[in-house]
Amino acid sequence: MADPIRIDKDALRFCEEVLKTPGGENLLRCFACGTCTASCPVRETDERYNPRRIIRMVLLGMKNEVLRSDFIWLCSTCYTCSERCPQGVHLTSIMRALKNIAVREGIIPPSFRMQAKAIREMGKLYEIEDFDNKKRARMGLPELEKKCPDLEALISQGKLKDIRRATLP
Ligand code: SF4
Ligand code: SF4
Repeated sequence: MADPIRIDKDALRFCEEVLKTPGGENLLRCFACGTCTASCPVRETDERYNPRRIIRMVLLGMKNEVLRSDFIWLCSTCYTCSERCPQGVHLTSIMRALKNIAVREGIIPPSFRMQAKAIREMGKLYEIEDFDNKKRARMGLPELEKKCPDLEALISQGKLKDIRRATLP
């Protein structure tokens, strides 16, 4: 049998952190009706995905379990749950907040690390090949830059800290 869940100071701190993030304000209104789970398209493809359970785990302060859950990264940000929640819980924003907290804690799935690295190095997810620009030239379109100097400048000024953090080993 699983151990009882203890709501200690750390658990309360985590719950408060989520409550303070934009969109997290209505978290305590959740009455566990399950409308979010019943509406979620990701849930249709994988029954283990359960937004209501994530909300419940946040309310119980289960920080480690929530931040290490694959589920927060599977959310496709479709907003269906936020639209349908009868209590005005902005679940989509909460999922985004949880991802941001996970990044700050250094908990990032390898595939997202690769995406962050590509954005940091090129300013885009896919590399621009010579072939792409030759094709664009044939169509009369301007050349695309392979790097993004504006992004590099922002990162060197110490901005976009989450991108930097996500690309650390
Ligand atoms: S739909 Fe809203 S109130 Fe119902 S379980 Fe989901 S978050 Fe809670
Ligand atoms: S926003 Fe995320 S959690 Fe909400 S219904 Fe869409 S995929 Fe599911």
